[in-house]
Amino acid sequence: MHFLSPIIENYIAEHSDSEPILLQELTRETHLKVIQPRMITGHFQGRVLSMLSKLINPKTILEIGTYTGYSAICLAEGLQKNGTLHTIDINEELNAMQKRYFDKSGYGNQIIQHTGNALDIIPQLDLVFDLIFIDAEKTSYNDYLECVLPKTKPGTVILSDNVLWSGKVVEPLSPKDKATKILMEYNKKIKEDPRLETVLLPIRDGLTLSRVK
Ligand code: SAH
Ligand code: CA
Repeated sequence: MHFLSPIIENYIAEHSDSEPILLQELTRETHLKVIQPRMITGHFQGRVLSMLSKLINPKTILEIGTYTGYSAICLAEGLQKNGTLHTIDINEELNAMQKRYFDKSGYGNQIIQHTGNALDIIPQLDLVFDLIFIDAEKTSYNDYLECVLPKTKPGTVILSDNVLWSGKVVEPLSPKDKATKILMEYNKKIKEDPRLETVLLPIRDGLTLSRVK
């Protein structure tokens, strides 16, 4: 679903930085070879992630949901010189393709790939993150948030993607639709959470920006 008219969306994309060639290639290969290519971050949102990361200039980034690596590369663009990005995906079949693009991007040495359930892996990471991007299974968003909060400090930025879920969060809820129900609860909870300051940005499918107090 488009929240804005396609004409305005095109205008916005045309007046934002161009999509790097490598990310255009990654998008093409994802559409040719990988299932559910609509999950990939696109041109405009990718540039937003890159810009936010550059403004934050993190030393440590955590990404939950690597997929083919598009958003990881965008976020890595803002890393400090000696910084690292940890990215987790449950699907090991994606590992080789991610690695190939991470190496081509020049951030291969700074990106650490983890394979498995994020809820098992995060507690084992003895790190504090400056920037966290939550973009895996929507029905687990509450669990991811609770799992990452012990790995934050005041000022850590937490981004949660797809929180408008194609607009379903404002439509009548179908009883079988677990993802929408949980995202509605998540959006309410993250706004009310006394540990966080939060703004929901209407970027693409909805991107919530929270800051740990
Ligand atoms: N961030 C990517 C898109 C992620 S799509 C981009 O913008 O390009 C969501 C990914 O989350 C899928 O690749 C899926 O395999 C992964 N995933 C789903 N459940 C997970 C879990 N519990 N732990 C880690 N990864 C998970
Ligand atoms: Ca997403």
